[in-house]
Amino acid sequence: MRRDPSCIFCKIAAGRIASRKVFEDDELLAFHDIAPWAPVHFLIIPKQHIATMYDTGDEHAAMMGRMLALAPRLAHELGVVNGFRVVINTGPDGRQEVQHVHMHVMGGPRPWLRG
Ligand code: 5GP
Ligand code: ZN
Repeated sequence: MRRDPSCIFCKIAAGRIASRKVFEDDELLAFHDIAPWAPVHFLIIPKQHIATMYDTGDEHAAMMGRMLALAPRLAHELGVVNGFRVVINTGPDGRQEVQHVHMHVMGGPRPWLRG
């Protein structure tokens, strides 16, 4: 498994930093965002280190598809039944802060803190 020892999400994927886990399998991990914008706000990440979406290619298409397909299922399990947003911030202009690909899933009743 490709990991970057200095990457915070690699540390979470390795269990070296605690997180409130939503889902885990061999390839993906989902956990609650530490600073939620919405009543429900979790992140879905690949366990392998991929810095940004610019670093993905055809070989990642199935994995990225699984991330997308998981979003509605996990949102529903967390009680989000009236809609949600999916966001993948990428690069400086995309305001990506953590350099490990992650998909935000935000939902729950309005109002939200942001967005
Ligand atoms: P970005 O701006 O890179 O798209 O979003 C990074 C997200 O990761 C932010 O929403 C931030 O709150 C979340 N985050 C950063 N560090 C941690 C952490 O240690 N644990 C958890 N659960 N979330 C984190
Ligand atoms: Zn990483």
